[in-house]
Amino acid sequence: MNPLDQETARAQRLRLRRVLWGSGVYCCTSLIVLGCYLAGFIEGRHALIFFSALAALNLGFIGMILSGLNLRLGDPSMTGIQIVSSLWPSIYVMYHLGEPQARMAFLLVAVVAMLFGVFRFDFRGMLTLGATVLLTYLLLLVALVQWAPERVDVRVEAIIVFAYSVVLALVAYLGSFIAGLRRSLMRRNRELETAMAELRELATRDPLTRLPNRRTLMEQLDRETARAERGELCKSPLSICMLDIDLFKRINDSYGHQAGDAVLRRVAAALRRSLRNGDFVGRFGGEEFLLLFPESSREEAQELAELIGRNLAAMRIPELPGNEAITASIGVAVHRKGETLEETLARADSALYEAKRRGRNRAVVADGPTPAMAHQA
Ligand code: GH3
Ligand code: MG
Ligand code: MG
Repeated sequence: MNPLDQETARAQRLRLRRVLWGSGVYCCTSLIVLGCYLAGFIEGRHALIFFSALAALNLGFIGMILSGLNLRLGDPSMTGIQIVSSLWPSIYVMYHLGEPQARMAFLLVAVVAMLFGVFRFDFRGMLTLGATVLLTYLLLLVALVQWAPERVDVRVEAIIVFAYSVVLALVAYLGSFIAGLRRSLMRRNRELETAMAELRELATRDPLTRLPNRRTLMEQLDRETARAERGELCKSPLSICMLDIDLFKRINDSYGHQAGDAVLRRVAAALRRSLRNGDFVGRFGGEEFLLLFPESSREEAQELAELIGRNLAAMRIPELPGNEAITASIGVAVHRKGETLEETLARADSALYEAKRRGRNRAVVADGPTPAMAHQA
C-alpha cells in the first residue's frame, strides 16, 4: 500500500470510529424515546418511526464510509450532514410528544451532537451549526403553534429559545477554542516529528555524501562483528575494506575544494551502486570510506575490492577536466574469530598503507594479525 492509500485508510478508520461514537449518542436518544413511550408521552408508532429513521441514517453513514462513497464528497468526514440529519428524527418525536416538558431532554442531546462539530469546524462553522440547530427548533415551534397549539406555551418557549441560543453560542465558542488547541497540538506534533527525523538524519548521515557517517558505520560494524563471532568463521566471515582516494589533496589544490566535494559525492554514489544485498558502506572520514561485506570470503572480498577500484579508475567525473581520473587504494581485512573490532580495522588500515606504499590504485588483503605479516601478503 502506498503512503497516500495508507493515509486514506487511516482517515477512514477514524471517520468510522466517529460515526460509531455518533451511534452511541443515537442510542442515548433512543433510550429517551423509549422512556417517553413507556411514560405514555408518545405513541408506539411514532417511536417506531423514530427508531427506523435513526437506524437507516446510522447504517447509511456507516455504509458510505465502508464503501468509500464518502470520499467523493467535499467533506469526506460528513460531520455537518451527520449532525444536522440526526436532528430530524428527534424533531419528529418532539412534535409528537404529548408532554411539552419532555422536549427539553432532546434539546440537551442536540448540544452533545453539536459538540461533534469541533472535529471539523472553526468558530464560524460552529456558530452556523448552532444557528441551524436553533432554527430547526424554531421551525418545530412554528409547526406546533400552527397544528398543535395545545402542546406549546409560547411564553415558556420564548425563554427556552433565548436560553438555548446563549448555550449554543457558548458551546460554539468553547468548542472552537478546544478545536483550535487540538489543531495546534497536532501541528506541533507534526513539526516535532519532522525535526526528529532531521535530527536522526543529521546524527547518522554524512551531509556531503549522504552516506552513513562514521558513528553509524561503527555501530553497524559492531553488529556485524558480533554476528560473525556467533557464526562459524568459515561459513560467515565478515570482510571489511578501507578505501582511500589517492592523492586527493592534489584534486583540491588543482581544481578547488568544490570540485573535491563533487568527487567525494561521485565516489560515494559509485560505492553505493557497487553494494550487493547486505553490504554496507559509509564515509569513515575525509576521503576515506569503509565497506562491510558480511558473509564474504577473503577471495570474494578481494575480487570485490579490485572491481570497485577498477570502476572508480574508469569513472568519468564531469566536475574534473576530461582526462582527469581518480584512483583509490583499498585495504581488505577478514575478521577473525576472537579478534576485536579495533584489531580488524587496524589490519585493514595496515593493508591500505601497504597498498599506498606499493604505488596506490590497488587492493591489498591483510594476511596476518600484525602489520609485519601483512607485508608478506
Ligand atoms: P594519499 O594518496 O596518500 O591518500 O594522498 P591524499 O592527498 O589523498 O591524502 P592526504 O591525507 O594528504 O589529503 C587528504 C585530503 O582530503 C586533505 C583534505 O583537505 C581533503 N579532504 C578531506 N575531507 C574533505 C572534504 O570533505 N572535501 C574536500 N574537498 N576535501 C576534503
Ligand atoms: Mg586519507
Ligand atoms: Mg587519500
